[in-house]
Amino acid sequence: MSVAAAELGTTATTSATSSPAFDPKEVTVIFVLGGPGAGKGTQCARLVQHHGFVHLSAGDLLRAEQQREGSQFGAMIKEYITEGKIVPMEVTIKLLENAMRAAMSSEAGEAKEAGANGGVKGIPARRFLIDGFPRQMDQAVKFDETVCPSSLVLFLVCPEPILLERLLERGKTSGRDDDNAESIKKRFQTFVNTSMPVVDYYRKQAKVVDIDSSKSIEEVYADIEKGIAPVLRA
Ligand code: UDP
Ligand code: MG
Repeated sequence: MSVAAAELGTTATTSATSSPAFDPKEVTVIFVLGGPGAGKGTQCARLVQHHGFVHLSAGDLLRAEQQREGSQFGAMIKEYITEGKIVPMEVTIKLLENAMRAAMSSEAGEAKEAGANGGVKGIPARRFLIDGFPRQMDQAVKFDETVCPSSLVLFLVCPEPILLERLLERGKTSGRDDDNAESIKKRFQTFVNTSMPVVDYYRKQAKVVDIDSSKSIEEVYADIEKGIAPVLRA
């Protein structure tokens, strides 16, 4: 892909006929899904500490793009996030793909400096945790097809009243446009109507590991460790 084409939004992601941008042999992708407030970010941070994953939060990437000076998408992203709607997938997928590429090339550079085999071919498979994505069917299909199919989906399950309580608590300090009662209600609706079909889609592919995330952070993390063990051994 040319440099210009790699710029966010200048072209469609990639044509449907091309193969994925990353070889699943070189890259391991775990999706971390669950309702708003389920603990995706918290648990991903632990996985990074213990297993050296690269953690990419779709929501964080979108918020960073929203704030990036000169972004043509800033206003649009803010509106979608406040309304609890899903930003058009081209934007989110391109942000994720760019971030994955950046992580891969910094890894390759480090390997070279360390005197390893050098170049991307010589480094071990890079592990990515993709948090809060995909949450709409079109994103799931497009990402699998054009970026990289996932190895596993961690699904954090938690009852809505607990999610609400957590989000309202977080809203006191998060400064997020969507941690208020009105946006939270819309996010729950989007989760049930739009994101649950994605979980069902991956369940049919036997990729989903359900985790009860209503428990304490430590207990949830222990269950996640058990859940991802097969992928880490692979
Ligand atoms: N979002 C989106 N596409 C994505 C992921 C997130 O449009 O693939 C938007 C959506 O409006 C969502 C918001 O970003 O409600 C916040 O997502 P985040 O994952 O940060 O929230 P969480 O679910 O972790 O509370
Ligand atoms: Mg999050």
